[in-house]
Amino acid sequence: MTSFLIQSDTHNSITELRTALNKCFDTDTLNEITIDTSTTHDDWEYGDSCPECGNAQMSTITPVEDVFHSEHGEFEFMDHGDFVGDTISVMCTECEELLVHTPYEKL
Ligand SMILES: [Zn+2]
Repeated sequence: MTSFLIQSDTHNSITELRTALNKCFDTDTLNEITIDTSTTHDDWEYGDSCPECGNAQMSTITPVEDVFHSEHGEFEFMDHGDFVGDTISVMCTECEELLVHTPYEKL
């Protein structure tokens, strides 16, 4: 069993990482690799500034229902609907440090 602990701050880089791993390992090995996207900022709380750069402006990622109109082969965005879940991520807008991350499996 091979286990890698890899920390990453954006979902985009996780995708890039998987692509890179795909080129390095066969499928059996890949299936044993777990990518841990948790952060090291367990002590950060809402209201705190960024522990990395001191910036106080945060970007949050929250699941929101998007309403589409589907008719006659058209699929048209209508409106943002209600908030449907807890905040998934809080990210510093300055240094892009990920302060809170909830793995999607938990939702
Ligand atoms: Zn920061």
